[in-house]
Amino acid sequence: MMKIERRKIVEKIYSYPLGYSLDEIKKIYKLQTVRKMSENENVYGCSKHVQEAIFQKLAHISLYPDGRALAVRKMLATTYGINEEKILLGNGSDEIIRLICRAFLNQGDEAIIADVTFPRYESNVTIEGGIPIVIPLIRGVHDLEAMYKGVTSKTKLIFICNPNNPTGTIVGKQELLHFIEKVPPNILIILDEAYYEYVTSTEYLPSISLLDKHPNLIILRTFSKIYGLAGLRIGYGMMSPSIVLDLQKVKEVFNVNEIAQTAAVAALADQDFVMDCARKNTIEREYMCEHLQELGLAFYSSETNFIYVMSHYPVFHKLIEHGFLVRQMKAAGYKDALRITLGTREDNEAFLAVLKELISEEAV
Ligand SMILES: *Cc1c(COP(=O)(O)O)cnc(C)c1O
Repeated sequence: MMKIERRKIVEKIYSYPLGYSLDEIKKIYKLQTVRKMSENENVYGCSKHVQEAIFQKLAHISLYPDGRALAVRKMLATTYGINEEKILLGNGSDEIIRLICRAFLNQGDEAIIADVTFPRYESNVTIEGGIPIVIPLIRGVHDLEAMYKGVTSKTKLIFICNPNNPTGTIVGKQELLHFIEKVPPNILIILDEAYYEYVTSTEYLPSISLLDKHPNLIILRTFSKIYGLAGLRIGYGMMSPSIVLDLQKVKEVFNVNEIAQTAAVAALADQDFVMDCARKNTIEREYMCEHLQELGLAFYSSETNFIYVMSHYPVFHKLIEHGFLVRQMKAAGYKDALRITLGTREDNEAFLAVLKELISEEAV
């Protein structure tokens, strides 16, 4: 019997941990409600103008979408004060990561990636035949010095997730700027800024103004996080126009559907919503950190809508039993590490109460 042979590299690819759906969890744990604090989605939903815009568009779904996504690009160009030729839309920024790997990696080319960071960099590099060079974080932060030392004649891509998912940390402004200036211009630097809108630190490097001087820079942002459109799949990259043209060649022609494009335009127009969410998030982040500290838990300093928390007790499954779904991670020397997406005040209060109870039970 002849066997169907898959490509060798498929064996190496890490399957994204999708886990159980909320309905499955409710069934398994016999719960009425589950609070989802695991995917870094916007707990406040999306702008109320989005629904109306989508509704208008429903009469036209028999038509193909705009393969150039011009309306969204124009709107983004105005929002950021850059030329629309520098903008590319993707089916989530996840797709743009794939397009970059597809267009730029030859067999055996190297990509420098932090450990731990967003898993899609490594998966896409591997799928396209590249070699991930993995550099450990230092206390949850990208080690730019070690990443720079990792550069070889084979290096093609460097991924910097800023703020980093799952740790929530940012890299220092001056440090990142020096890094960008030092890296040879034939290497692409990808700055993934999926959580850009949540950052409050003055130590955060404003990156868009660097695009002209550094044509090897790609900035990724998304409508999935603060804009609250994760279910529609739309994200974008900002880069030199020649890279946009290259990536356009390797993308699906109609990669971003019309409903998503319409929603993105409406969402961009409502910056009040974005600012309001960012403001509430900052308050909740401080609230959560204060209480985690009181509970004696170690965590990384976050510039996002989630917090990476270490626990000496195995609390992940117990949290689910109490109706709280968070993301389970790993940290050396701890029984559990959790990435907790911030909720509303009510969610966070309830979560902390349960966490407190679990920890005190373990202590006796
Ligand atoms: C969520 C996320 C993305 C992208 O999400 P899309 O939904 O594909 O736009 C990209 N990078 C990081 C670090 C993320 O956390």
